[in-house]
Amino acid sequence: MSSLTEIKMIRIVQYLCPQRHAIMAACFDTDNTTPKEAEESILRRLMEMNVATHCGICHANELHFEHGRTKFKTMAEAEPHLLETERLNRWSRWWIDYQKFLASRNN
Ligand SMILES: [Zn+2]
Repeated sequence: MSSLTEIKMIRIVQYLCPQRHAIMAACFDTDNTTPKEAEESILRRLMEMNVATHCGICHANELHFEHGRTKFKTMAEAEPHLLETERLNRWSRWWIDYQKFLASRNN
């Protein structure tokens, strides 16, 4: 029997630089995934995507995991918000890469 302090919430794990720029994040349901498995999933995904494991904004190499709770109780409830956040983050990444491209042309 669960108490009010044990209300199930969808968790988020972020892989962050010291300035809290997120390299990657993932949400998970603790019924199906442990926090350690979520961290391993992020590291595996970064390797699969061949993404450098440093911050693309401030170039820090010291990255860490940070765990938290979302406001969502189910992954189905979280999914549209996660997809929108992913879309915005992909756009931000494109903009950062484009700024680097422009800067390289001016040198
Ligand atoms: Zn950074």
